Amino acid sequence: MIKLPTPFSVTTRKVTLNNLQKQEYDIAIIGGGITGAGILLDAVARGLKVILFEKQDFAIGTSSRSTKLIHGGLRYLKNLELGLVREVGQERAIVFSNAIHLVRPEKMLLPLFPDGSLNKFTANIGIGVYEWLANVQAKERKSMLDKENTITLEPLLKDTKVTGSALYTEYRCDDARLVIEVLKKAVEKGAEAVNYCEVTDFDYDDKNTIKAIRLKDATTNETYTCTAKKIINAAGPWVDELRKINKSLEKKQLHLTKGVHIVVDKKKLPIQQSIYFDVPGNRMIFAIPRDGIIYLGTTDTDYKQNIDTPNVSAEDTNYLLNCINNLFPSIHLTPSDVLSSWAGLRPLIHEEGKAPSELSRKDELFLSDTGLISIAGGKLTGYRKMAAKAVDIALQYLVKEFPTTHTWKKSNTISIHLSGGDFDSLAHFYSYKETKIGETKEISTNISFVSLLVDRYGTNVDTILDIAFDNYRNLSPSQQPFALEKAAMTYSKEHECVVYPQDYWHQRTATNYFYTQYYSTNQAILDEIASEVFN
Ligand code: FAD
Repeated sequence: MIKLPTPFSVTTRKVTLNNLQKQEYDIAIIGGGITGAGILLDAVARGLKVILFEKQDFAIGTSSRSTKLIHGGLRYLKNLELGLVREVGQERAIVFSNAIHLVRPEKMLLPLFPDGSLNKFTANIGIGVYEWLANVQAKERKSMLDKENTITLEPLLKDTKVTGSALYTEYRCDDARLVIEVLKKAVEKGAEAVNYCEVTDFDYDDKNTIKAIRLKDATTNETYTCTAKKIINAAGPWVDELRKINKSLEKKQLHLTKGVHIVVDKKKLPIQQSIYFDVPGNRMIFAIPRDGIIYLGTTDTDYKQNIDTPNVSAEDTNYLLNCINNLFPSIHLTPSDVLSSWAGLRPLIHEEGKAPSELSRKDELFLSDTGLISIAGGKLTGYRKMAAKAVDIALQYLVKEFPTTHTWKKSNTISIHLSGGDFDSLAHFYSYKETKIGETKEISTNISFVSLLVDRYGTNVDTILDIAFDNYRNLSPSQQPFALEKAAMTYSKEHECVVYPQDYWHQRTATNYFYTQYYSTNQAILDEIASEVFN
């Protein structure tokens, strides 16, 4: 039987590029981060013919380098951004219900100190307003804890001057996987998405309106042209580079700020739960436990260097280490304790005279005279609303200019479960997980890896298990313990368009951030498997 390529495979990627010349799209999107992915899903769900191009791998930009929280941004209340907190805060519940496998409630402890920026009264009022704006359900609302209960929850605070704390709920997520699951759902509905394909230029008609984009395939250096009625520039920190090519940079511009996170072993920083704490300079830092590690972040500094290669400087690392060492007198972390780190760029909208942490996190649309729609700013959490705004503008244009082929439709992503997210509730998700752990006993005794797979892939784990069971007996004895990992790699090549092994280790699994010890312990066999699957 001939096996047809799956719609989001490396083989289909080539077919899509070869067919480009014969197609005309309603919308072409530049950028495969969360903003572009959200637009792709919103547009295809409204019945539009739509394609997305990403110059590197999907989610490699800011969308894999965030704090990985789905939240309204308690801190933005300090800047009185009530509208932003309300809009993004209310999106939390929607992102959660559409991607239960990826988004998990996370209790956050905000310790209070005599010289801190918040006291019991202001923290109670501030978080109360936050919860009211974000429409937080009763069972997830904050509680104010006294000193004793605070120390019971987080014994490391025992040697500090802590006076009490607020315990409130945020949501933790895997940012890059959120992008991938949005893209997969869009592709399932008929959209197309191509990674490693850079938009290098625009073609214009005789009225100086963009009619096509020029592309370069980074895997072959071949060039293509894609014709579309509307182009949306969702290139995150690179938005202004494309506006420059389009000669439409005259209005507001982006202001990039860099945010760094570092990862340390939980044995070196044995906190029991997520903490959000004050640091000098009117800033706050997260320390978040995850699978045996703690990640800490973030910094917020102006960035004017190369956008393609933001890196973590010794100064960034020392800043974060000092923040945590100053909070806990018994902790003495040094740069050699850092297992991994990442730096991301916030594509914020410039406001004259404002410091990085004062700049608004709101999103903004720029419409050029040539018809280019650019969108930037915003938060991972608010991606669905941002996408709807961009597609509204594009569809208004299509309905006006092409009334015989286009009619107005409202955004309907509010109730679209993302790929892998077909669960009614968290309880449903946990019982599914238990079933999968039971089903894999024959080929894997590694319960925590099966659990991790269900967190990563949700209901798509069924396909991964089918691949693993089909292949298990043909694997060498050294590969058999990694049968599930090998199946996940095969799945990622056929269903998540992984082109190179690093796409799998970085954007599909975050192994390079959170599972570095697992990778380095098993490097030889994992590299052997990856080279068989991806070459
Ligand atoms: P990106 O993810 O950068 O995507 C743009 C893409 O466009 C890139 O992949 C790039 O390669 C591609 N591209 C560029 N030029 C071209 C071209 N010419 N052709 C084709 N493709 C191109 N938000 C939250 O909700 N919660 C958080 O906890 C949170 N924490 C954050 C922490 C930090 C340190 C930072 C920096 C941001 C954080 N954010 C958070 C904000 C959030 O991460 C961003 O708003 C969001 O990821 C931006 O996504 P994007 O798609 O606009 O940009």
